Amino acid sequence: MPDDYRFNELYELFRKGEAENACRLLVQMHSRHIALREELTILKLQNRQLREVLGLSENLFLADGVYWLRSSGAPLGPFCPDCYESDGLLLRLERKGACLRCSRCGAVRGRGAMPPHDDGLPAPERRQAHVLRFAR
Ligand SMILES: [Zn+2]
Repeated sequence: MPDDYRFNELYELFRKGEAENACRLLVQMHSRHIALREELTILKLQNRQLREVLGLSENLFLADGVYWLRSSGAPLGPFCPDCYESDGLLLRLERKGACLRCSRCGAVRGRGAMPPHDDGLPAPERRQAHVLRFAR
């Protein structure tokens, strides 16, 4: 911790009987502690978001022209390849008769919505999936 020397400084001020200076230093140290705690909270949140994005991109795979997401059960999807490849968005394709259609970009894929056999290969590395936020 880069501010550890301040505890020694505080100790010395109290030892010398400089209570007013010690109190001033204590207030500074408290402010610094609050700022560091807030920074830690932000860093923990960023770390969690990065782990989520990494986990998502590692479990995404392309099969028959559409993206699928590995899960503990059947693969989730299918997701629009155009929206993912252009904007990194995972948008589930909607079944329209025998085709699948993206409600965002209008892409149409002529494939049933049956989950594919997972070949275990990750999506191309040049892309990173975005985590879609859901209302709480
Ligand atoms: Zn789309």
